[in-house]
Order: sequence, then C-alpha cells, then structure tokens
Amino acid sequence: MNRKYRKCIIAANWKMNKTPTEAKEFAKQFKLIAPKGRWCDIIVCAPAITIPAAVRAFKETRVTVGGQNVYWKQSGAYTGEISTDMLVDAGAECVIIGHSERRSVEETDYSVNLKTAAAIKAGLTPIICVGESLQQRDLGVAFDIISTQVKMAVAGLTKPQMRKVIFAYEPLWAIGTGVNATPEQAEEICEHIRATIRKAFDARVARAISILYGGSMNPSNAAELLAMPDVDGGLIGGAALDPEKFVNIIKAANQPSAKE
Ligand code: PEP
Repeated sequence: MNRKYRKCIIAANWKMNKTPTEAKEFAKQFKLIAPKGRWCDIIVCAPAITIPAAVRAFKETRVTVGGQNVYWKQSGAYTGEISTDMLVDAGAECVIIGHSERRSVEETDYSVNLKTAAAIKAGLTPIICVGESLQQRDLGVAFDIISTQVKMAVAGLTKPQMRKVIFAYEPLWAIGTGVNATPEQAEEICEHIRATIRKAFDARVARAISILYGGSMNPSNAAELLAMPDVDGGLIGGAALDPEKFVNIIKAANQPSAKE
C-alpha cells in the first residue's frame, strides 16, 4: 500500500451473519482488544437489519458501519429492496456494491453502475467489488473482465465523485475457499484496476483510490498481501466474523512491510 497517496482500509463483510444481538456482542469483544493506532480505517458491512444495532454498538470506536447492497430508486414499489436514504438514516456510511454473491443471482455491470451513482449521490461510499472466475482466469481473459467491470461501474462519474469510490478486487475462486490469491496475483490485478481508472479518468484520480483485496484473507496471509504497493487494504468475509481474527488483520496492516 502507498500511504502517501491513499488510505488503508480494513473492511468486514459479515454477509448473512450476525443478528443485532450478535453484533452487540462482537463489538463488546472488539472494543476490549482493538488497537489504539490509526493506521487504517475500519469498516463493518452488516446485514441491513443489523445496521442500527451495529452503529450503536460501535459508537465511540473508529469503526464505521456499511450495508451490503442497495437499490438505485429512491422509494416505491420495490418489495424487499433498500434505498440509499434508508441506509443513511440507519447510520450506514458506505455500502458494498456488486459482490460476486449478488452478481451470481441478479447483479449486472449495469445495475452496479446505477447503484454506485445512487450511493454517491446520497453521500454513501461505494465499495465496488470486481473479480474473475477461475474459468475466466484459465482462459486468459481476467484482465479484460476486470477492466469491463471497472469501466461499467464508474461510467458517468465525475472526477470529484471518483474520489469517493473504493474498489475491492475479489477473485471468485478465492472467496470463502481458503485459497487466497498470491500477493503477486493480487498486486497485478489491483495495479490493472488502477491503470484502468487512470485511462478512464486521470493519474491523480487513480493514485488516490483505495483498492482492497478480498478472498480468504486471514491473520496469517494479511501482512504479505497488504505489503503490495497497489493493495490498499482488505475486504474480509469469514475471518471478520471473529473479533480476534479481525483485530489481527487490522494489526497486520501495521507491519513495517505493509507501511509503504
Ligand atoms: C467476501 O465475501 O467478500 C470475502 C472476501 O469472503 P472471505 O474472506 O470469506 O473469502
């Protein structure tokens, strides 16, 4: 990571885990062991129904709370959807958009674009997930897939709006599998994401954007992944369900090798 130009961010994706009561318990344990240093921003993306409880539980900590999905319409007959206003009113400050688990059921590059624009308009930070499948990687089209996902997600945004965006590179074959990308694999795609943004916007915008790696990150592999120059943090699923593991990943972002 390059602290001179961008923020280090360690974000939890709790997926469909943690009831409001469990979130409270997690925060209680987290507070007891959380490091005091300010070397990274910490985010917890909770299930929608858990957000208000998580916001209350993490009050007076450095943790900000986010959602895991959002709809682009402001209100109306969209049963089951959640608007940006609802997330903001519940206390969320950011939202994951385009996670592969959503792309596998209904999300498209186009809906990711609509959701990203809506999130930014509402003052929410979008954490846009991109990633290739194993088949796409084996066929040698991973770079093409990623650049299309990146360009589609942020098409139409202005340069100032781009400064609010966070990207997460999450190879599908690494999510929840226990097989993480090697630091070199993570770096070459994160660098490619930055190069795609550079071409679509400019060098200043590309330099300032935080790009996270996600996919089986844990306390043992976090430091070497976070030491790569274009990996600015992590989006963590399984390991972020346990306060101690989550805290150890946050600590790994403070290793000397991960500082510059
Ligand atoms: C995720 O789902 O965003 C993720 C990275 O999951 P895991 O850490 O469990 O692979």
